[in-house]
Amino acid sequence: MKPAPFDYVVPRTVCEAVEALGDTGRKAQVIAGGQSLILEMHLLRIGPELLVDINRIPELDRMSVEGDELRVGALIRHATFESADAVPGPLGALLSRAVVNIAHSPIRSRGTMAGSFAYAHPASEWCAIGVALDAAVEVIGPGGAREIAARDYFLGPNHTARRPQELITAVRLPLLGENTGVGFIEHRRTHFTFAQVAVAAALTVNDGVISAARIGLVNSADRPVRARNAEWSLLGADIGPLPSGPRLPDDHPFARAGRVAAREDAAPVAEPYADVDYKRQAIAVLVGRTLLEAAADQRARLAAREGHHG
Ligand SMILES: Cc1cc2nc3c(=O)[nH]c(=O)nc-3n(C[C@H](O)[C@H](O)[C@H](O)COP(=O)(O)OP(=O)(O)OC[C@H]3O[C@@H](n4cnc5c(N)ncnc54)[C@H](O)[C@@H]3O)c2cc1C
Repeated sequence: MKPAPFDYVVPRTVCEAVEALGDTGRKAQVIAGGQSLILEMHLLRIGPELLVDINRIPELDRMSVEGDELRVGALIRHATFESADAVPGPLGALLSRAVVNIAHSPIRSRGTMAGSFAYAHPASEWCAIGVALDAAVEVIGPGGAREIAARDYFLGPNHTARRPQELITAVRLPLLGENTGVGFIEHRRTHFTFAQVAVAAALTVNDGVISAARIGLVNSADRPVRARNAEWSLLGADIGPLPSGPRLPDDHPFARAGRVAAREDAAPVAEPYADVDYKRQAIAVLVGRTLLEAAADQRARLAAREGHHG
């Protein structure tokens, strides 16, 4: 289908973009990578009267480490994160493990992390990582600039605390400390479709004992979920030698955390090929496996560091 006619402007600065979005006479919409927006327009789900193309604003095309955070400007494409070296430390590893699950390469070369936060699809990998890591979303609009914590930002499918006239300028994520390992595992029906369920995890371990855990669930509710009950169930657990083989013993802390996440944190929504029970089972299994991956990653990092110093 053909979208309804619309006007198109290409601002060169954030100020110009905000001015265009604040033009209250018309229903305006930002276009970044266009990988969700154009599809929505073709399906006539949305009909903007004005498209504000932010692709020529150099200040949005920057990524930087600021203190212990990564600041990702609104034009940074998904593909940037395909190399684990693009971002230092465990955060770089987490982003690079997750990104290959987003669609396919042409979409990843155009789509942006900020666009995913704006679109707020419950199956977005970035959004679940955002809530798990307590990301901050920087926005600017006619009323000025503000920052929204990821925990307050996602309100439902394609629904966020961002006001329609606000532009996301950047997303900030913590780099994650030295004793932290990460994991990301996704389950989907076919290549290039959205996840049925996926899990992001970051585990901080000191002397074999878990001191912090962050777990994000993809497509496990009407919005990205931070599995706080599962995280709490892990604090203080002594994980000892890591189990081998695909199945965790039922009484292992990771298996228990998986059951807690599925029962207490997730609120799955049925889909044609995944009903609620199926999703809960998938969440329980994937959380356990992702935590195991994160623990193995933490040990590998520790061994590499000790080898380096020794
Ligand atoms: C076949 C296919 C498969 C896909 N699979 C996945 C997947 O597995 N996982 C996944 O996460 N995504 C997937 N996507 C979506 C893709 O990741 C998009 O790139 C992403 O959702 C939006 O980023 P974008 O930069 O393309 O945004 P756009 O399409 O340009 O915009 C999307 C929405 O966000 C708004 N917006 C964009 N940037 C800003 C900003 N800076 N400030 C305010 N509003 C803004 C737009 O106005 C629009 O409403 C898929 C898309 C397709 C077509």
